[in-house]
Amino acid sequence: MSCSLESINFEVERKRLVDQLKLYGYIRTREVERAFLKVPREEFVPPDLRKKAYLDTPLPIGHGQTISAPHMVAIMTELLGARIGDKVLEVGTGSGYQAAILAEIVNPDGKAGGIVYTIERIPQLAEFAKKNLERTGYINRVVVIVGDGSKGYPKEAPYDKIIVTAAAPRVPKSLLEQTRSPGRMVIPVGTRYEQTLLVVEKDLEGKIRITESIPCVFVPLIGEEGWKD
Ligand code: SAM
Repeated sequence: MSCSLESINFEVERKRLVDQLKLYGYIRTREVERAFLKVPREEFVPPDLRKKAYLDTPLPIGHGQTISAPHMVAIMTELLGARIGDKVLEVGTGSGYQAAILAEIVNPDGKAGGIVYTIERIPQLAEFAKKNLERTGYINRVVVIVGDGSKGYPKEAPYDKIIVTAAAPRVPKSLLEQTRSPGRMVIPVGTRYEQTLLVVEKDLEGKIRITESIPCVFVPLIGEEGWKD
């Protein structure tokens, strides 16, 4: 059975997805729940895929890339543990959805001072994300940069939190250097085809502790400190 866009109540769909993500234990905190209820995922997917926006699945956004599945965004956001006022770097902007979720956490009202820098290597996707973030009112809390994020974005470093949404062969040295002491990074590391989500913590003295989370599959991080094309 097909249904027209007008007949879809996105708010109801969003609430249903959030309930499901809570039930499975992917959403655990009030901050993450609030952000998921606020950010309209249908505004971050190509127009012909809007009706699929609240399926818990990755969706194509062009240029061979995807917007990650909601459960993966929830898992990574919970592991990152961003707080109000944090300065966050996201590597792999894609649609801008994850950046909007983080902006909703670090600066819910646009006055809390928290900010998200997000870097994307494909200029057309950075433009797509920028438009999505403008339309949904997040562009005052998210800065979109075009470039090779495997080297981070030294200009604004250090960051309280770094999240990498593409698969790296190893933890990039530049990203480690750009993580604040204390600070945290969440990054999928492994082969091009399967990875483990790592939580990399830096303490006050700069000591590093790495914890393995779950197995995952991401598109490759292509760049100087990632995979070669
Ligand atoms: N976080 C995104 C979202 O919310 O839609 C999904 C990210 S998608 C799974 C991974 C993105 O990483 C792709 O858009 C890809 O072009 C980008 N990417 C890959 N290598 C990169 C690099 N070295 N620097 C910046 N972006 C990169």
